[in-house]
Amino acid sequence: MTQERPATTHPSLRPRSAELYERACRVIPGGVNSPVRAFRAVGGTPLFIARAAGAQVFDADGRAYLDFVGSWGPLIAGHAHPAVVAAVTEALGRGMTYGAPCAAEVELAERVVAAYPAVEQVRLVSSGTEAVMSAIRVARASTQRELIVKFAGCYHGHADHLLVAAGSGLATFGRPSSGGVPEAFVACTRVLPLDDEAAAAELFGREGARIAAVIIEPVPANHGLLPQRRAFLHALRELTRQHGALLIFDEVISGFRLGRGGAAEWLGIAPDLATFGKVIGGGMPVGAFGGARRHMAHLAPDGDTYQAGTLSGNPVAMAAGLATLDLLERERAWERLEARGAELEQLLVPVLFAARFPVHLVRVGSLFWLSFHAAGAPRVAAPLSAAESARFAALFHAMLDRGIYLPPSAYEACFLSLAHGPAELTRLVEALSESLAMIA
Ligand code: PMP
Repeated sequence: MTQERPATTHPSLRPRSAELYERACRVIPGGVNSPVRAFRAVGGTPLFIARAAGAQVFDADGRAYLDFVGSWGPLIAGHAHPAVVAAVTEALGRGMTYGAPCAAEVELAERVVAAYPAVEQVRLVSSGTEAVMSAIRVARASTQRELIVKFAGCYHGHADHLLVAAGSGLATFGRPSSGGVPEAFVACTRVLPLDDEAAAAELFGREGARIAAVIIEPVPANHGLLPQRRAFLHALRELTRQHGALLIFDEVISGFRLGRGGAAEWLGIAPDLATFGKVIGGGMPVGAFGGARRHMAHLAPDGDTYQAGTLSGNPVAMAAGLATLDLLERERAWERLEARGAELEQLLVPVLFAARFPVHLVRVGSLFWLSFHAAGAPRVAAPLSAAESARFAALFHAMLDRGIYLPPSAYEACFLSLAHGPAELTRLVEALSESLAMIA
């Protein structure tokens, strides 16, 4: 085990991370296997993590950081929770993957079905991207329609037809927001603004008979945290029902985080299909999608809609997911996480209020976001000005210097876990208070 040293952002004081990054850049595009890890939005070189435990990560130079990224959502129990590690270790000894069914995948599927009333059947996959991609295929097969509606600022993984940028404020034809995605691939995608019933109604008025599904993060958490008005989400439920389209809740972040029944339970809205990831895999690669039997029956081998995966439902990933869901139940996790979130809010609000420039806290359960928008926290995907982005970058590095690891982007939400206790919250708030004063 490496010895702990105070955190610092200065690359010369993190020589092992700097060296690893240099090596990585030679053999991995941009030096990272997922773009947001690269610190491009905040400057500097990424930390390379050597190990993690509870609420902390330790970089390759042996420095400790209090972590509010949580691997972007899966680690609701904290890093290397002993119960999860024990379950995975035990499963490993019985083989990593069989390419044949095993009991653990039935158990995980039963848990999802029991927790989420809209899901009668579920299929397990290995990532959120796969879950969403497959749910959309099922929606198209089930409705025999082609169009998919998404919302500007919502991220649903990197399937071609969902990598579509926003139109500005009005219903718009999808245009790819990534290289390598032909216009033709997104010709069946429509993008709407969040928080706008009229735009949705207008689109349905025009093309309702061709719309297979509307997909939304019920608590959008990929362009900052943009909690929606319930009335807006209810309107989407009504519109889709009236027009025979399916409503898909992408609960990859919110599922089993905002509560046992995810955002659907929290909002009191039943979608037709739902997608999961992150928490249900407890840190291993797991995703899932499910819904009513009549939709899921389209999937092969019963139906004609193909979907498959070499490592889907493997016993090691299932063990991590099951152990995580078990401990969430056992430890009354959702109640505790909400209380922790509320406590953080109480501590943070006066600190943010005292800052000499606008910073707003947005919190939903154990998700929180510091919005640097001078005009106030937005409810739709809103770009930050160069000055606002620069303030966030300065804050990010000031926090890193104080041993606090925030997501390296002003548009990313922070995650609390069961490992974040009162001491961790206090450390965060003190560091934030100092950092805000420093960068002002
Ligand atoms: N949907 C949502 C809401 C997500 O937040 C993400 C990932 N952050 C995905 C889908 C894609 O999941 P994955 O990265 O596991 O492919």
